[in-house]
Amino acid sequence: MPDTIKRKLLWATAVFWILLLYIIAALVWWFFSLEKQNRELYELRKETLVIKVPDQKSAAYQTEQANIEDKRRRNISKYIGEGSIFLLLIIIGAVFIYHSVRRQFRLQQQQQNFVMAITHELKTPISVSKLNLETLLKYQLSEEQQKKLLHMNLQETVRLDGLINNILISSQLEGGGYHAAKEELDLSDLVIAAISEFKTRYPERLVLSSIQPDADVNGDATLLKLLISNLLENANKYSSKEKPISCDLMQKDGALVLQVTDEGIGIDDDEKKKVFEKFYRIGSEQTRKTKGTGLGLYICKKIVESHKGTISVFDNEPAGTKFIVTLPQA
Ligand code: ADP
Repeated sequence: MPDTIKRKLLWATAVFWILLLYIIAALVWWFFSLEKQNRELYELRKETLVIKVPDQKSAAYQTEQANIEDKRRRNISKYIGEGSIFLLLIIIGAVFIYHSVRRQFRLQQQQQNFVMAITHELKTPISVSKLNLETLLKYQLSEEQQKKLLHMNLQETVRLDGLINNILISSQLEGGGYHAAKEELDLSDLVIAAISEFKTRYPERLVLSSIQPDADVNGDATLLKLLISNLLENANKYSSKEKPISCDLMQKDGALVLQVTDEGIGIDDDEKKKVFEKFYRIGSEQTRKTKGTGLGLYICKKIVESHKGTISVFDNEPAGTKFIVTLPQA
C-alpha cells in the first residue's frame, strides 16, 4: 500500500476509534447519571412517604411503598432497554462505517495500482510492435525471421485487444451501456474457437480439451468468448509453460459446465473469493511477477452473472487451480 494511503488509513482509523470510544463513554456516563437520578428520586419519595404516612405498618404505607418500588424498577428497565438499543445501533453503525471506510481505501489503492498497471500494459505492446516494425523496415531479414517478428506483433496486438476489451466491457457492463445479446449459440463452437485462437498465440503450450458437441446456450457470443479467453489467459499466465492446460465442456443436469484447469501456482483458500473483486490481484506490487490489471476475473464473474450462471475456483490435484463455470442450457 502506498505511504500516503497508509497514512490516511491510519488517521481515519484513529479518528474512528476516538469517536467510537467517546460515544460509548457518553452512553456509560448517561447510564450512571440516570441510575443516580433514579436512586435519588426513590430516596426522596420514600422520605416524603414517611412524613405523609408515619405508620409504616399501615396498609396505605405498604401500598405506597410498593408503588415507589415499582416505579423504580420500571425506570431501571426503561433506561437499560433504551441504552441497549442505543448501544446496538452504535455497534451496527460503527461496523458499517469501519467496513465502508476500509473498502473505500482498498478501492482507492487498487485503482492506483490499476492505473500503474494499465500504463505499463498499454505501453509494452506498443513499444514491442514499434520496434518490430522498425526492424522489419530497416533490415533485410530472412522469411523465418520476418515471420517470427510478425508473430510477436500479432501476439502483442491480441493482448492489447484483450486488455482494451476487458476495460471497455467492464465499464459498459457497470454503466448499463452494454446490452448483452440473448441469442441461441453453440457454446461448443465458441470454446473450440477460443482454444484455437489461444493455440495460435501460444503454439508451444499444450492444451488438452474434451468438448461435448452441441452445447446450446442463450447468450452473447462476444462476452462468452471473452470469458473463455480470460480463463485460458490466466491459466497460461499463472502456470509454467511446460505444464498442460485443460479446457473441458460438458452437459450435466440441464446445465453446461465449463472447466479450465492448470497446474500452476494455485490460489490460497482465503483468496478464492477475493480474486473475483474488481482490480484485485494477489500479492503486492513488489512480489508480483506477472502483468495484469485485476479486471479479468471480475469481468468473468459479471459475464457469468449476466447469463444467470455461476463461477467458482477450486484447487486442482496435484497442483494449480480449476475454474468451473456453469451456464443454463438453452
Ligand atoms: P490479473 O490481470 O491480475 O490476472 P484477474 O482478475 O484475471 O487479474 O485475476 C485476479 C488474480 O487472481 C490474479 O492477479 C492472480 O493472482 C489470481 N489468479 C487468477 N487466475 C489464476 C490462476 N489460474 N492461477 C493462479 N492464480 C490466478
